[in-house]
Amino acid sequence: MPDTHSTPRLLMNRLRELMARGGLEEDRLGKVVQLIAGTMVADVCSIYLRTADNMLELIATEGLRSEAVSRTRMDMDEGLVGQIAMTAIPLAIQDAPRHPAFSYRPETGEDPYHAFLGVPILRGGRVTGVLTVQNRTERAYGEEEVETLETVAMVLAEVLAAINDQREEQPNGLDERRPAKLAGRSLCRGIGVGVAVFHDPIVPAAKFFAADPDIEARRLRAALNELRVSVDTMVTIDAGALMGEPREVLETYRLLAHDPAWADRLLDGVQGGLTAEAAVDRARREHRARLDQATDSYLRERLYDLEDLDNRLLRILAGSSAGVDTKIAPEDSVLIARRLGPADLLEFRGTGLAGIVIEDVSVSSHAAIVARAMDIPTLGGVPGLTTQIEAGDRLIVDAEEAVLHLRPDQAFERSYASRIALRSERQATYAALRDLPAVSLDDVPISLMVNAGLELDMESLKATGADGVGLFRTEFQFLVSETLPRLGEQVDLYSRILDAAGDRPVTFRTVDLGGDKMLPNLNHEREENPALGWRSIRFALDSRGLFRRQLRALVRAAAGRTLSIMFPMVTVPEEFFEAKALLLEELDWSNARGHERPAELRVGAMLEAPAFAYSLREIASEADFVSVGTNDLMQFFFAADRMTPRVSDRYDIVSRPALRFLRFVAETCEREGLSLSICGEASGDPVQAICLAALGYRSLSMPASQIAPVKQAIRSVELEPFRHTLCSMLDTGGSDLRNDLLALFDDLGVETSLI
Ligand code: PEP
Ligand code: MG
Repeated sequence: MPDTHSTPRLLMNRLRELMARGGLEEDRLGKVVQLIAGTMVADVCSIYLRTADNMLELIATEGLRSEAVSRTRMDMDEGLVGQIAMTAIPLAIQDAPRHPAFSYRPETGEDPYHAFLGVPILRGGRVTGVLTVQNRTERAYGEEEVETLETVAMVLAEVLAAINDQREEQPNGLDERRPAKLAGRSLCRGIGVGVAVFHDPIVPAAKFFAADPDIEARRLRAALNELRVSVDTMVTIDAGALMGEPREVLETYRLLAHDPAWADRLLDGVQGGLTAEAAVDRARREHRARLDQATDSYLRERLYDLEDLDNRLLRILAGSSAGVDTKIAPEDSVLIARRLGPADLLEFRGTGLAGIVIEDVSVSSHAAIVARAMDIPTLGGVPGLTTQIEAGDRLIVDAEEAVLHLRPDQAFERSYASRIALRSERQATYAALRDLPAVSLDDVPISLMVNAGLELDMESLKATGADGVGLFRTEFQFLVSETLPRLGEQVDLYSRILDAAGDRPVTFRTVDLGGDKMLPNLNHEREENPALGWRSIRFALDSRGLFRRQLRALVRAAAGRTLSIMFPMVTVPEEFFEAKALLLEELDWSNARGHERPAELRVGAMLEAPAFAYSLREIASEADFVSVGTNDLMQFFFAADRMTPRVSDRYDIVSRPALRFLRFVAETCEREGLSLSICGEASGDPVQAICLAALGYRSLSMPASQIAPVKQAIRSVELEPFRHTLCSMLDTGGSDLRNDLLALFDDLGVETSLI
């Protein structure tokens, strides 16, 4: 194999010459594949073009039979090339014919080739083709080679675009832009309709090679400067002025923008002969490649942020700021992105963007947090998104049903218009409910609380008329900063949360770290089953310094007010006793130093491990309350991972085993005089909320968006008679409990709809 360090440089120089020569694009491609094969010492190099009818067509090859050019056409999901097109991820395989996705095409004469490396050709975030090399011998392609091929693919993207433009001028009637439906995950509920605008920078090939590295270095430094100033402004001024903006996320982002290692890597690129744009794009690809391999959620968030910074820098270099087609009004636009950073999204604040669809994102990602804060219907985790949508396509983002409708026909869109109208009607009804109490028809009051984790979430208290915060997840502040938050920072955050809540109670859940919510600076071995691992109260009790500091901050922040604290995932009573003892020591410590005490102290335990349900008697005299975290409890109860979509929705809490267990917990708490609440998301569903309330859970904490539908449900039911019915249903066997209950609610006129 060639010296991998000099290959990229050599190849780039030769490509530059080739591009400068001009001529027909097809002819140039023939020379390009020859050049790549020669320089990379590959037996084959081929280019596949994504055609208007969504096929992958072999348009140039060195090494395969020339008769196959234009004849070999494959479906978008066919073979290894299709896999690259669908995932937009490079693929390197030592023995391709043995790969399960391999598709044999005899006309190409590819029988003798074993090793295979392919990379997507991306333009504007969309896959427009695939570039491959093959070797006879079974060999492993190195990272450098993958990177080189990706860099070449960047240049080819422009040539492929020109070929597609030429082809489009000759109408062939092949472009069936049919309606389609893609499934995703709802990151922020709602429905939005608009046209697709892509959020991704485009780097024209013309700007790929640097004529003068010094000029490029100057351009790069100036752009970096501009970027840092704009990020600083956004964090200190824009976000400062916005009460409750997710500041922690942005502060981390700002630190990354000033990271000298990132800047050095970019400058290396221009010194190596790339333009500033190409150097940044190379960094972006590196970040993306690392992202594809990173499983740790914390690391992934950092890499998303870095990629976001790369994108912003590219846009500054291109002389634009928003990175989307500004000709389309935001209120008619659905923003499409493979990935999106928190700051990118903030730029659209207040513009009335109709919806957002992100290809690769998790519910807890920074982009998702900001999207929810901005209340824009958002879908994430839609695979193949950017390969199936064209800019300008009409889209319906249904983040209620978690589907994306592409190019809907008019009748379909009209049916959605009525759903949207119904939704806004419901929203008006819900708004009217805001100041009404959550009381059942037979006068049983239920406290409806919100789950929160950011200062921003506190706004929802007022907006929903909720009774307080039933769960404040404190670990977020730890997860977004590079270093552990200092005592003062924690005191500030908790005080601001209490200030924002005013008279309404807030229950702070002490850090639920560990498992997959790992801190960057702590050495932590990867675990087979992180949800069952060294996490929550187990981690906190073993990390005394960190835990004590948090307790101290909570005590300090609650001076003169009520301090309500609960410990996550308590499994045995000793854990609760030990944690409470630490809290009391912190209270004494604070007293001894003359700090004002909290006016009242409430200490509780979260019931998430089923075993703890059988220890409630032991803690009853020491604990003020128990809060059931149904998210974890149900994953342990049903042995079904909450993070694995194939199993997470498989079992229903509205089922005899789960509700019998929860009834047992409620009865035990009643007997032992323990206050009881629920803080898992399960209480946010109207049917579930009614069942839980009937079983004795009189305080329900849920995502803010669920307060109104749950309140409506509670106000429409007679709880006491329903409790009898439910209990007798639990005591007798029967078929599908949820279906039976839905039928019953229908008969009784109980409102269980959601918007
Ligand atoms: C739960 O497990 O139900 C819970 C509220 O905690 P978290 O979702 O933060 O694990
Ligand atoms: Mg939990």
